[in-house]
Amino acid sequence: MSTTVKELIKLLSNYNQDSIVVNHENEEFVHLISLDGNRTKISVKPKIGECNECGSSVHQTEVIDYPAVCTNCDENKYEFEITRTKEK
Ligand SMILES: [Zn+2]
Repeated sequence: MSTTVKELIKLLSNYNQDSIVVNHENEEFVHLISLDGNRTKISVKPKIGECNECGSSVHQTEVIDYPAVCTNCDENKYEFEITRTKEK
């Protein structure tokens, strides 16, 4: 079943507004991504760089051999397919 942003806002209004948002594994919500105007993705994985193909942000993944996922391309990416954000 799909949930729209409007429905999610209504659902969340019933919860403690000062509570911390986590997933089922207690990982904290990190960011929101708008995809093509029709999908909004909530992620708990930090941004680690940019996609060499489309330039969108890529995020950490636990998939073996693929360090990153690009939600815009909707694909897991190999190391050579991304440019990591330089650590400061
Ligand atoms: Zn991409």
